[in-house]
Amino acid sequence: MTQPIVEHTIAGIRERVRSARAEIETGGAPRARVALVPTMGALHAGHLALVERAREVADIVVVSVFVNPLQFGEKADLEAYPRTLDSDVELLGSVADGLFVFAPSGEEMYPNGFPATRVSGGAIADRFEGRSRRGHFDGVLTVVSKLFHIVGPDVAVFGRKDAQQAFLVERMVRDLDFPITIETVEIVREDDGLARSSRNRRLGSGERIAALALSRALEAAASSADAGIDAAIAAAQSALMGERLVTLDYLAIVDPTTFTPVDDGHRGRALVLIAADVGGTRLIDNESIYLR
Ligand code: AMP
Repeated sequence: MTQPIVEHTIAGIRERVRSARAEIETGGAPRARVALVPTMGALHAGHLALVERAREVADIVVVSVFVNPLQFGEKADLEAYPRTLDSDVELLGSVADGLFVFAPSGEEMYPNGFPATRVSGGAIADRFEGRSRRGHFDGVLTVVSKLFHIVGPDVAVFGRKDAQQAFLVERMVRDLDFPITIETVEIVREDDGLARSSRNRRLGSGERIAALALSRALEAAASSADAGIDAAIAAAQSALMGERLVTLDYLAIVDPTTFTPVDDGHRGRALVLIAADVGGTRLIDNESIYLR
């Protein structure tokens, strides 16, 4: 396998994408397709699933690795976020050939400090994750917009683990007419059910066991879905009971097309969302359920 080519500057990655396109398109070949996989690094199997999808749908794949300060509320959380670029690049090189990695510095992305112009996700961006992390999604949508303008992808790949983020990005693309298709990829889990996350490496062994309460709660909700929304919520709540290390932030069931909570009469697909603090580490998870 060839190691990915790493670019740290906007001009550098634009030139790489331009010349990779030109190389493919020589001799009248159809337009090359470019995929972007935005990440904050500390890569794991969840991210690799996105890269795999990107390779299926595009000729050129750019993986961005940028811990975006604009989407962090607390400085301590930003500082504690793992940064492992060398091993990320190595991991990417072991699973795919010919990738480009765009790993800019904060200075490169925000040369004048935080930008005065932001992309706002509106009311849905203030709910759930956005309620606990004020301004988080505006930071996400702003950096994703910048990455879209920098890389110019035809398709961008996001994980369903961050369901609210994927919802808001898809809506932004429609609202602001980005000529980009959004692909989403199913949640990748550990064998015992814990959703893969860069934050999992912060969990101590007791916390790692306690963290399983999140996926257990989602499973409990899914298996009680036939009895309705209220029963599903109650089942999830009882799966969390007695978990001393787990402090629930929110547990909700939403309509995936509007991201607003559904009532007990809801029929069809719905999404169970959960977020909790596990010994100081914030974890999120979700599962799709079907109500008959
Ligand atoms: P992050 O590096 O945490 O910002 O995540 C980058 C992308 O990877 C986002 O689109 C996430 O939704 C996705 N992702 C993270 N963890 C997983 C997972 N366990 N399964 C699927 N996608 C994931």
